[in-house]
Amino acid sequence: MQINAHHNGQPLAIEVKDVSVSYGDTQVLQNVSLSIEHGVMVALVGPNGAGKSTLFKAILGLIPIHNGQIYIHGLPFSKIRGELAYIPQSEQVNWLFPLTSADVVMLGRQRKIGWFRKPSKLDREIVDESLRRVGLADRRDALITELSGGQRQRLFVARALAQEAHTLLLDEAFSGVDIASQEGLMDMLNSLAEEGKTILLSTHDLTNMSSRFDLCCCLNKHVCAFGKPSEAFTPEVLEELYGTHAYTI
Ligand code: ADP
Repeated sequence: MQINAHHNGQPLAIEVKDVSVSYGDTQVLQNVSLSIEHGVMVALVGPNGAGKSTLFKAILGLIPIHNGQIYIHGLPFSKIRGELAYIPQSEQVNWLFPLTSADVVMLGRQRKIGWFRKPSKLDREIVDESLRRVGLADRRDALITELSGGQRQRLFVARALAQEAHTLLLDEAFSGVDIASQEGLMDMLNSLAEEGKTILLSTHDLTNMSSRFDLCCCLNKHVCAFGKPSEAFTPEVLEELYGTHAYTI
């Protein structure tokens, strides 16, 4: 199979090349390009309506792109199988299903299990290990309705680990969870990145977490800046993202 987007001989985790997306006549992404290596943590920062969710949907192959290309580990989306995991905002999920934490994480194994086989001992071990990695081993049999916002978010990360995804996309991961949970999430994501997972996390909020990312991509329909957090947030970029009041942040 032909592999594109080599970088230092290794395919990039995500390569977005000159991508534009419109809804009807309204262009929401304009010539967006991004190159993300494996094992890197990237914050996708921009105000509401900047196109962050649209970029995620494009990377996940859920919406058509009007020009440009997207490669995941060097392959077009049609050729990838489970390497990407999407972690939604916990507010956007219906938590009323009578499922346990372990049931939800087992859903991450579905692609490997197939529809006609029962989970094996190995599948159950992977689920337990994934729950342990995110600090939810003791909530294994808890109903998901009983979990806090921060625990629900970690549950989705466990599902991504069970899926054996190499890249995690977290949508607005800081909204709806308290500062302590945000810190805990960042500690966990940092250690996953050290093990080689690639993390792309969107946020509309310029929290003090930005310094904990390797790279920040500032998006407002187009890429305003992409680089180390200390270099990406120039006064000009902040003004483009949030208007003049951002100077005071
Ligand atoms: P963000 O995630 O940064 O808040 P979105 O990607 O959700 O931004 O939205 C970008 C722009 O596209 C917004 O102006 C939004 O109203 C518009 N938009 C998003 N989804 C749709 C859709 N399905 N149809 C039409 N417009 C949409």
